[in-house]
Amino acid sequence: MENIDWKNLPFGYYPTDYNLRSTWKDGKWSDLEVSSSEFISVHMAATGLHYGQEAFEGLKAYRGKDGKVRLFRWEDNAIRMRNSAQGVMMAEVPDELFFSAINQAVRLNAKFIPPYGTGSSLYIRPLLFGSGAQVGVKPAKEYMFVVFVSPVGPYFKEGFSPVDVELVRDYDRAAPLGTGHIKVGGNYAASLRPADRAHNDGYSAVLFLDAREKKFIDEAGPANFFGIKNGIYVTPSSRTILPSITNKSLEVIAEDLGLKVERRPVPVEELDTFEEAGACGTAAIISPFRKIVDRQTKKEYNYAEKAGPYSTKLYQTLTAIQFGEMEDTHGWTTVLEGI
Ligand SMILES: *Cc1c(COP(=O)(O)O)cnc(C)c1O
Repeated sequence: MENIDWKNLPFGYYPTDYNLRSTWKDGKWSDLEVSSSEFISVHMAATGLHYGQEAFEGLKAYRGKDGKVRLFRWEDNAIRMRNSAQGVMMAEVPDELFFSAINQAVRLNAKFIPPYGTGSSLYIRPLLFGSGAQVGVKPAKEYMFVVFVSPVGPYFKEGFSPVDVELVRDYDRAAPLGTGHIKVGGNYAASLRPADRAHNDGYSAVLFLDAREKKFIDEAGPANFFGIKNGIYVTPSSRTILPSITNKSLEVIAEDLGLKVERRPVPVEELDTFEEAGACGTAAIISPFRKIVDRQTKKEYNYAEKAGPYSTKLYQTLTAIQFGEMEDTHGWTTVLEGI
């Protein structure tokens, strides 16, 4: 076990001992290579560097109450990475290779898995990019798949307490028929400027609207949006939203808790009607909103100072499943035996 201040870990890069790599060449993936270097040697004309042929994933390994290490819905991450690969014409990583890499990455870095009870976990970052050289705009002929891990604390430093977010109309993270639905780096590049501006103005995140009409809620930078009212869990449906595995899980838990679930376009005006609202994703699970401020109109949508009862219950239930405190009735977790 490493001597780390587990409870106060930031959500950030923390070096660990090993990472896994595989290269796709001549139509096949190489055997996984275990590396102890934090660097990769890449051709300067790699398409990942020039044309954004790149996709990534994010999931976590949790040390449970029973001492066991669990992954949460890793198959969904594998499928999503294959969809991202298709979206920007990269070689797809087979699910077996995906699992083998994350399994080995967790095992080889077992001493970095945060102990149960600290709220921290081991973040797993699979990465896929065009590594083959190309100067004309064409898909690469070689791809690299890398998996590294980092122990992390909660994403939002305020923890599970409400945050203020800024609704913007002068930036979009993805075009209406673009790449918003896949987890590619370009979407993040497009979100950096508005996110930086929002942080400087005291907000913890940006809420984007649909790029075409600016009428509907899209998502909150790296996390999906949800609102709750009258016993209904509402989350936007839009082609430009990244299908969050956390959101998909919260929808199921919401139904278990007796809420109705609606996935449909959410007009901006509806923000006024929600009893609770927040963002969800692997990093923070749920970030409840205290207020949403429309940067252009200055209109404020206010929610409670403390996390609402449903957001709290949803958060507690999902994290209890991940940490093995509650029975996993939906078969979402995979125990990595013997760590
Ligand atoms: C990864 C991501 C999310 C959250 O997805 P999870 O599977 O819940 O972690 C939400 N929005 C965007 C844009 C993302 O890239």
